[in-house]
Amino acid sequence: MTQKELGYVELEWTCPVCKTRNPGTQSTCSGCGAAQPENVTFETPVQADLSEDKEKVERAKAGPDIHCAFCGARNPSTAKVCRQCGADLTQGKARESGSVVGAYAPNTGAMVRCASCGMENPAAARQCVRCGAPLGKDVVTPPPAATPQPMPASGGRMGMIIFAVVAVLILIGAGWFLTSLFRTSATTASVVDARWERSIAIMGPVPVRANGWRDEVPAGAAQLSCRQEVRSTSDSPQPGAREVCGTPYTLDTGTGMGRVVQDCEYEIYDDYCSYMTTQWGIVDTVVRRGVGLAPEWPGATLASGQELGERNERYVCVVAVDGKQYDFPLRTVDAYEQCEPGSQWSISINGLGDVVEAKRVE
Ligand SMILES: [Zn+2]
Ligand SMILES: [Zn+2]
Ligand SMILES: [Zn+2]
Repeated sequence: MTQKELGYVELEWTCPVCKTRNPGTQSTCSGCGAAQPENVTFETPVQADLSEDKEKVERAKAGPDIHCAFCGARNPSTAKVCRQCGADLTQGKARESGSVVGAYAPNTGAMVRCASCGMENPAAARQCVRCGAPLGKDVVTPPPAATPQPMPASGGRMGMIIFAVVAVLILIGAGWFLTSLFRTSATTASVVDARWERSIAIMGPVPVRANGWRDEVPAGAAQLSCRQEVRSTSDSPQPGAREVCGTPYTLDTGTGMGRVVQDCEYEIYDDYCSYMTTQWGIVDTVVRRGVGLAPEWPGATLASGQELGERNERYVCVVAVDGKQYDFPLRTVDAYEQCEPGSQWSISINGLGDVVEAKRVE
């Protein structure tokens, strides 16, 4: 983060006697004439333009004021002797400085209402122009726009009833499904068909879209298209970087003036690109299907740079009993060879008509 100086603004102090707000650099109250207290607290004004008073700004830049070690009077940091008692100020104590006083609010022409007479005064004013009463800091804001009310939820009860009915139906359905699933019947069936399917994946370079910073893009990448994106941020200004700053705030300079700063960082842009490249993957899958007990692998013609990949085999035995056909998978080619036409199998069938167990009996 870089702290950027926007300028200086005159702070305020509130008179403990009459509550009048006074300009930070003023040493006596404009309401009652009381002296600025030694342990004065400076506050940010409601709204204020940056100061154009060269003298005050120079004093703020010179350093925090010095309190005389003998009489306590505040003197500019540039003074050598106390303006009140003439004492040597090298023994004096510099005011605290550097703390954050608050957010800086530029003058937008907002108004402040007088608590005594109701008159609206510019936010920069400290006393009412009509009655002279000290002004507070409550900026008059227009009444907030009416927020749209959400539509009242309608049919809430109807929705509950439908929900309950649907829930009951789902429960009944699930119950029926589970009962069917676990109710099995055993029977003996004879093989009428044997089907197989074998496949081999063909591996090779597959075109894929990829993204990356321009210096990461492989040479010769196709269909390159780029746009500017933030790649990194820096604390200090960089050529071509975009400055991003936070809300301005005010620091106490110990002189009644505030130093208005904002923290900034610098976004460094670069080309972020989309391009086509290749990735090792499945280019194609060759499949061969057939019936009978002599399954074969499909033939594959490989282009240059391609290789054979994963092999898959599926075997299905089809049996018939009482004029109905059932089928079930067999995991290995050895098991499949048992699926000879006419052979007898003991099968268990669940309520959904699926074969859950099969075993050759002869
Ligand atoms: Zn006062
Ligand atoms: Zn003094
Ligand atoms: Zn008033």
